[in-house]
Amino acid sequence: MDFQMERYSRQMLFKPIGPEGQKEIGKKHALIVGVGALGTHTSELLARAGVRKLTLIDRDYVDMSNLQRQHLFTEKDVKGQWPKAEAAKERLKSINSQVEVEGIVAQADAVLLEGLIEDVDLLVDGTDNFETRFLMNDLAQKYKIPYVFGSCVGSFGMTFTIVPGQTPCLQCLIKKLPMQGQTCDTVGIIAPAVQMVTAHQGAEALKILSGNMDAVRKTYVSFDLWENEYLSLKAGALKESGCLSCGESPEYPFLQSDQEMKVAVLCGRDTVQIRHAYNGDLPLKQLVDQWRSAGLAVGGNPFLISVEKDGTKAVFFKDGRALIHGTRDVNEARKIYHSLVG
Ligand SMILES: [Zn+2]
Repeated sequence: MDFQMERYSRQMLFKPIGPEGQKEIGKKHALIVGVGALGTHTSELLARAGVRKLTLIDRDYVDMSNLQRQHLFTEKDVKGQWPKAEAAKERLKSINSQVEVEGIVAQADAVLLEGLIEDVDLLVDGTDNFETRFLMNDLAQKYKIPYVFGSCVGSFGMTFTIVPGQTPCLQCLIKKLPMQGQTCDTVGIIAPAVQMVTAHQGAEALKILSGNMDAVRKTYVSFDLWENEYLSLKAGALKESGCLSCGESPEYPFLQSDQEMKVAVLCGRDTVQIRHAYNGDLPLKQLVDQWRSAGLAVGGNPFLISVEKDGTKAVFFKDGRALIHGTRDVNEARKIYHSLVG
């Protein structure tokens, strides 16, 4: 066995994967949207498993409150205000240098996702909001790519594997099942709830990427680790023929650009994201000079600039987005934004 394959020897000894399945995994490209709790776990798992390529998208940077459950990140990333997609990329490359890792610091919108999708074999859910999940769901249906949905909050989690043309989609499911975590909440989360979801997501990803489609789970799973509940529900009958995402005449509503978020409250962060307020790139250098001469505290790294004014912190990214911290009030955030960029 050559040196490189020794890395995967235990995975190949597992009969359903074997050397053939390993070869398949090594040809595949997974797109992980959201590199927080779910995304850091699944990306680490897939990098260690030996996929050909991982693309990671995340709009946020590493915060101290992330370290309790988000693998890959360290205190150094918090101190450097490192974007999650970049911090995760660096760590994953140190775990498995053979895997090509692309980190994208941006809002995962329809234009960005459709531009990336061409050779993607699998979509993995690492987001914290249902707008982005519905977007991924439409993307999966339009381009016929399996999508492993996962979500968790508190001690509760749920997961389902969506195979276009076979299973119901997320839109079909959400109308019929009581789903927690559909809105931003502040009930907190324990790390094992994340790991339980990503254990399911990771196993499903390995089945799909190794070519074991017959083994893919047909049931929707939800659990509560604190209440000691586990539910596994046959979901096939929930498919709706009139569904706008997976039905007979699909329209993929979330891929239409008017569904894009201009202003969004970030889950559990007391933070509002504002974007596309400028046509073209934000003149960051000019703004930094302006803020410095006004005596404001300015910091940052090659990916973002942070500025503090009247006790409020705002962070500006190269792609024109701004995160206004310390508020969940959209109008308040807009006011702060305009006081900084005019
Ligand atoms: Zn559907």
